[in-house]
Amino acid sequence: MKFRDLQIIEPIQKALKEQGYDKPTPIQEQSIPILLAGKDLLGCAQTGTGKTAAFAIPILQHLSDSHEPDNPRRSIRSLVITPTRELAIQIADSFTTYGQYTDIKNTVIYGGVKQQKQVKRLKAGVDILVATPGRLLDLMNQGFVSLKDVEYFVLDEADQMLDMGFIHDIKKVIARLPKKRQSLFFSATMPAAIVNLSKSILGNPERVTITPEKATAEKVEQHLFYVSNGNKIKLLINLLQTDLITSSIVFSRTKHGANKIVKQLLNAEISAEAIHGNKSQPARQRALENFKDGTTRILVATDIAARGIDVDDVSHVINYHLPNIPETYVHRIGRTGRANASGIALSFCAVDERPFLRDIEKLINQKIEVISEHPYPDDSEEPAKPASKGSNRSRSKSNGSRNSRRKNTSSRNNRNSRSRNRN
Ligand code: AMP
Repeated sequence: MKFRDLQIIEPIQKALKEQGYDKPTPIQEQSIPILLAGKDLLGCAQTGTGKTAAFAIPILQHLSDSHEPDNPRRSIRSLVITPTRELAIQIADSFTTYGQYTDIKNTVIYGGVKQQKQVKRLKAGVDILVATPGRLLDLMNQGFVSLKDVEYFVLDEADQMLDMGFIHDIKKVIARLPKKRQSLFFSATMPAAIVNLSKSILGNPERVTITPEKATAEKVEQHLFYVSNGNKIKLLINLLQTDLITSSIVFSRTKHGANKIVKQLLNAEISAEAIHGNKSQPARQRALENFKDGTTRILVATDIAARGIDVDDVSHVINYHLPNIPETYVHRIGRTGRANASGIALSFCAVDERPFLRDIEKLINQKIEVISEHPYPDDSEEPAKPASKGSNRSRSKSNGSRNSRRKNTSSRNNRNSRSRNRN
């Protein structure tokens, strides 16, 4: 299928062509017709699937079709809410790119920076507003944002909004939206709380489910290193001292951990910057820009800060700490192998993280290939669990994972040669 088969107007098709998009991704193929027909949409999909264009294209098309060129006054006709500042900026950039040959204007507002510039752009008039919830409410309460003309509303990354405690802010925003509107709701996962929230926003939605969990796990080459917590930094430096890893996001569980990793990498003369919620917005943006343009080779990130980061050429994702939520592993490894490219994910697993590993392998339904031949192997046995309900199940699974710790020289060599070819 081609974009023109989806009845997309010429100015948008031209912009997509310039981006090198020759065909729609599955979520675009399924969602664009529903949205162009004016229906509400419940999309179960995460970043990396092309979901931004899936909603941005129809919104731009609707707005462009009904734009009155003779009316100099613009009002916010489309509102997109997303949890993080990085995502908000990326979404606004996408609207700008896809809409560059239309007469539709957007702007983006987010917290952590002074509001004057944002207010100035709002006062100049925009058709599309991309916002994080806190700053949006703040500017609404100060009278700088009116939602009375909103016709197209997008709630993006709803599960993340909930995790970050934005639910009350979201409800306050929804209460101020016009009843007559088209609503789009996207979430990577659909737990009960999200389904309930979606019901309060959507009319009678069409559903689109893209299962990137499986797709991502299949697309990305994954390897595991058993290594003690104390040796992780040495292993990381050892891996980064080869030139196989051209650019990598290293995931740390905590902000403090991220800072510590960066310090030690810099001591080893490896260029690295941290990106996490304690950094100011300009510092985060700068770190991201430096990483995108190759000035910094390694970005050390926490999950929240990295959510949705869209960098095309990440050769490796490194899980310095394994996440305790298995879906997070899939989100993380989705930072490499974007837009149909393949990538490599390396995970470090200390003895206390083995239960997390079991949950991850269960979710992705595959064993991650173990690299046992490395300078800091960890043969610690997991402490026996006290006998309790379900303990048999965990013990037998833990044996399974120990059994999979096989000697693996040849697979490592294969990996290295494959990586070399890729790089
Ligand atoms: P998203 O899921 O919106 O974060 O998009 C993930 C990546 O896919 C971004 O880098 C987009 O630029 C890219 N992308 C979106 N749609 C297409 C397409 N139809 N063809 C190729 N790349 C695309």
